[in-house]
Amino acid sequence: MSGDYDPADGAVDRDGSLGGDAPVDSDAAFDGGAALSGLFAPERVAVVGATDREGSVGRAVTENLLAEFDGEVVPVNPSRDEVLGLPCVGSVADADADMAVVAVPPGAVIDVVRECGESGVRNVVVLTAGFGETGAEGADREQQLRSVATEYGINLVGPNSLGVMSSPRGLNATFGPDAPPAGGVSFMSQSGAFVTAVVDWAKDEGIGFKDVVSLGNKAVLDETDFVRAWGDDPDTDVVVGYLESIDDGRAFVDAARRTTDDTPVAVVKSGRTDAGAQAASSHTGAIAGSDRAYEAGLDAAGVLRAESVQELFDAARALAGGDVPDSDGVAVVTNAGGPGVMATDAVGDAERLRLASFNEETVDRLGEALPDEANVYNPVDVIGDASVDRFREALDIALRDPDVGSVVVITAPTATLDFGELGEMIADAADEHGVPMAACLMGGQRLADAGDVLRERGVPSYFDPARAVGGLESLTEYREVRGRSYPEPEPIDADRERVREILSSVTERSDNRLGVEAMEIFDAYGIPTPEGAVVDDPAEAERVAEGIGEEVVMKIVSPDILHKSDIGGVKVGVPVAEVADAYEDLVSRARNYQPDATILGVQVQEMIDLDDGVETIVGSHTDPQFGPLVMFGLGGVFVEIMEDTTFRLAPVGRDEAAEMTEEIDAAPLLRGARGREAVDIDAVVDAVRRVSQLVADFPSIVELDVNPLVATPDGVRAVDLRLTVDPEELETQS
Ligand code: ADP
Ligand code: MG
Repeated sequence: MSGDYDPADGAVDRDGSLGGDAPVDSDAAFDGGAALSGLFAPERVAVVGATDREGSVGRAVTENLLAEFDGEVVPVNPSRDEVLGLPCVGSVADADADMAVVAVPPGAVIDVVRECGESGVRNVVVLTAGFGETGAEGADREQQLRSVATEYGINLVGPNSLGVMSSPRGLNATFGPDAPPAGGVSFMSQSGAFVTAVVDWAKDEGIGFKDVVSLGNKAVLDETDFVRAWGDDPDTDVVVGYLESIDDGRAFVDAARRTTDDTPVAVVKSGRTDAGAQAASSHTGAIAGSDRAYEAGLDAAGVLRAESVQELFDAARALAGGDVPDSDGVAVVTNAGGPGVMATDAVGDAERLRLASFNEETVDRLGEALPDEANVYNPVDVIGDASVDRFREALDIALRDPDVGSVVVITAPTATLDFGELGEMIADAADEHGVPMAACLMGGQRLADAGDVLRERGVPSYFDPARAVGGLESLTEYREVRGRSYPEPEPIDADRERVREILSSVTERSDNRLGVEAMEIFDAYGIPTPEGAVVDDPAEAERVAEGIGEEVVMKIVSPDILHKSDIGGVKVGVPVAEVADAYEDLVSRARNYQPDATILGVQVQEMIDLDDGVETIVGSHTDPQFGPLVMFGLGGVFVEIMEDTTFRLAPVGRDEAAEMTEEIDAAPLLRGARGREAVDIDAVVDAVRRVSQLVADFPSIVELDVNPLVATPDGVRAVDLRLTVDPEELETQS
């Protein structure tokens, strides 16, 4: 192949190609796995599109590679003999490289990558922009790029990537400004701009990196591949991600679960506003939105989710220390009262932490060691004239208390302390006790020496006590995650054939919805329902009612009426004698509401006593990235106003379903508040897991509401059903 690789004529410009806005693509994750080490530790890197031209990507990446890399760098450019003093080869095939960085114009990228494939280069980073992020033509080009890479089994990063970095070999294969300081954090970012920002900022924050990758458009390798690869990398202590999307949610969950066994993973997921929610026709769909799916997905994956970049790296720094607290009790040791109180408040606010309560021995020993004015209870105040030795003594005593799982050490500037020495003391104490410690250096220049020492020795330090506490809390969260097991949900005996038939009946409809006429689905999955039937004439309605009891509930059954009670289509407490009239009334209300509505009839249903019952909702929504989610919450007609709901990936087992019933705000209502009897929680839990299995078994159910599932002390009843079927999915499963 020939052509001028000089980006002078091309679209690869330093300014124009910082990534972001990567398109969502549905391609399954590339199974690169642990083999990705080739991307971070190559021997010989070819820079295809290398050039001397100032301001070009090809020059910037070549310069960065030449700066520190302990392997070889081979410029590739058919129209030059030399780049930055290095001899140039005409084609990547002549470079004898094991990795290629591609910075040629977009139209030339695919040929270059094919050449890489032909000549055995299996690791390729495409910096060039102008692919999926630019519209239809670009998306097409990206698709071709993916096929070529897959055909040759190439680990391809990008396109539209800033590049990759790895500290052990001094590799900086990016066109960003600097390499980061070395350390144990491996970082992936969907935005290239974010990589440059974080790398720059990290220097002052004392954060060191192992590998860094700018994911770009993720045509081949995506977050799942790197989470998996870094889980197998002994030099990665923490995986950190800035993500805008997760392409294959379930694959990510699988990979992350394995990684978080011994390597914590923390991410910021940006883009919290929900574009997809409006079109939903169910309550669950309206509430679901993609952020709830990410929340459920990241939680299932055991991934810590940070709300801000600062929180993300505060967590990363704490996690990089490697020690995990064995108690959620925190000791605060300070030489200043006010900051001690702030730290105490922050511990109180932290969901997973509490102030440790010292035992008598600890209190006595602190009393002996400290002057009379000191506070020997937690928070320990060693007071302003404390020497390094006094600080150390107090720390040693507190650290031996069995209730102390982690420590915040706070210092404000004082005249008596040598802060370099103080830093060494804190780091020594952390090393000796193996208890996580966060330092809070509440000052600037005067404390700089302590900051330098702590950075050097890997003890996280912060200015703000709340951030120090936040860092420690992420350790406690990680301890919880690491201790998790992920049992398969208990199997459910169900009449799946019957459900398949009922779902297929939707094809006779003008829309894709089913309502209470499909309640037999509940029977098939062992979910209790009230007695009742759908009938299509008043006399029949009366007959059914007589068989049920003195009073019944009656509901209009029409695929055109989504919310029955909104149009007066639900009558509660109808005496048998009035059932025939009520039938006519319900039908005429439906006709008034929509003259051409399809009316399937009226449901006559046993009335459930709501006085000692709680209306709950169990729902499901299929997320494009994470698949079916199951929702549980406070139900009834005000679901969307209350929004007291929680989500999980479906299916869930008993334990997970039980957690869901515990974590909604209305949980105390289920457990018997204010003199009411508790509802049958086991029955609720059972219904949740059965619904979750139903939607997991039938991907054609894209939305489903069981609202309400009435929970009483005697059990549960599903009294209403609405679901939406995707007819295309229906075909693939029958
Ligand atoms: P929709 O949600 O379409 O308005 P529902 O069947 O959910 O219709 O009924 C609306 C409300 O009527 C329920 O939230 C519940 O308060 C009450 N209701 C419905 N069915 C029963 C029943 N069998 N027993 C007691 N109350 C019921
Ligand atoms: Mg309802």
